[in-house]
Amino acid sequence: MSNYNPKSLKAEEFISDAEILETLKYAEENKNNIELIDALLEKARPKKTEQGVTCAGLTHREASVLLACEIPEKIKEMYALAAEIKQAFYGNRIVMFAPLYLSNYCVNGCTYCPYHYQNKNICRKKLTQEEVKAEVIALQDMGHKRLAIEAGEDPVNNPIEYILECIKTIYSIHHKNGDIRRVNVNIAATTVENYRKLKDAGIGTYILFQETYHKESYEKLHPTGPKHNYAYHTEAMDRAMEGGIDDVGLGVLFGLELYKYEFAGLLMHAEHLEAVHGVGPHTISVPRLKKADDIDPTKFDNGISDEIFEKIIALIRIAVPYTGMIISTRESEAVRGRALNLGISQISGASRTSVGGYTEEERPHDSEQFDVSDQRTLDEVVRWLMELDHIPSFCTACYREGRTGDRFMQLCKTGQILNCCHPNALMTLTEYLIDYASEETKKVGFALIERELAKIPKEKVRQIATDNIEQIKASNRRDFRF
Ligand code: SAM
Repeated sequence: MSNYNPKSLKAEEFISDAEILETLKYAEENKNNIELIDALLEKARPKKTEQGVTCAGLTHREASVLLACEIPEKIKEMYALAAEIKQAFYGNRIVMFAPLYLSNYCVNGCTYCPYHYQNKNICRKKLTQEEVKAEVIALQDMGHKRLAIEAGEDPVNNPIEYILECIKTIYSIHHKNGDIRRVNVNIAATTVENYRKLKDAGIGTYILFQETYHKESYEKLHPTGPKHNYAYHTEAMDRAMEGGIDDVGLGVLFGLELYKYEFAGLLMHAEHLEAVHGVGPHTISVPRLKKADDIDPTKFDNGISDEIFEKIIALIRIAVPYTGMIISTRESEAVRGRALNLGISQISGASRTSVGGYTEEERPHDSEQFDVSDQRTLDEVVRWLMELDHIPSFCTACYREGRTGDRFMQLCKTGQILNCCHPNALMTLTEYLIDYASEETKKVGFALIERELAKIPKEKVRQIATDNIEQIKASNRRDFRF
């Protein structure tokens, strides 16, 4: 008898191993069931209603059938559907961000992460507030407005007070026309009280990767330290929500365990959040394991091909249509380019994964977390996106206007994105072009903005956006938003 209960607050009940194994069996049995596959694709298709376009999504069981299906023409249909859903809810906007590594001190023993406490090669660093300031200025000078802060887990070196102080410093810096308007946080699982402090500090999304949903593997991969506790880690998002954070970001580290297991677990986690808190995850990240210092790559033999990786991205898009999806510079330009069409809505640009890396001339390797595949500058990434007809967006309006959790989902569901997110994207892109872009990027960008302004349905909104864009060009007025 399965103990599965999406409404339970116990990790082993909302991520039930028995339910995942049954799901995988059901998926295997039905992977050539064309009638079922067609019905699932039909169910997931966007539908026009009086309130706007809606999308039913798929359950973990249903999506697992599609993941198991290896019929080439059905896979093509999945990709086309993923692209259609992305277009319906996110349009061609891609939100930009950069990670900021604060400290690589860590007391955990994670076997895949170079921060593990036994690694004697890595140079341990923790930014002082002066150094945080210098890093933030370097990021602002590139044009970034949104950061994800990263730190190892170390209650002595990086206590919550240190993280809170860094957030305060980051928000306080206004260099030239620059400012960081949204700080997302990727730190280890913590207490309700600490989540409340993060909420009060004005964070955007709280991000925590599950790494693996497979409990036995999880315990082996995290042999020592507080992260060893599977239940405490898996139940972190419930504590974060209890602490008042309503935008949470999920993810697994692909390559640690079998991908079909992880995929089912990830969707069950999303269903659990929806069942208990009435709102699913704000984002899902899809990191893949990378080569790193003092990590024995032969220990991990569950790596996935680019083809499987892209299929996973497309199916997450189909299964949870209202959840943003993030891809980092762990991936190459080619993989990122294809992933954008399959459902990704947020990417990082010009990332450095070393503590203090943004103030160094050369990319430093002595304190970095993993190899970065996409090493282009932000200007190059922005231009590349626009040449592929995406709109790079530096927008941070939603959470600053209180549109978090289900209020953001409502915006998505009622099709107001074209009247709200779209003009916000164009206005923040204009800021970027005027303040930071190269001449070549400006040329591509202004032509794109011209074309895209015409797509705003409400005339009044179109007029305001056009006026604001003119003001950004002609003055130092910034931060217009709907
Ligand atoms: N220390 C925090 C925690 O315990 O969750 C999170 C910060 S860590 C800098 C961010 C993420 O990097 C981890 O959750 C893990 O998924 C990922 N990571 C660790 N080692 C990696 C590697 N070798 N390749 C790719 N990603 C890795």
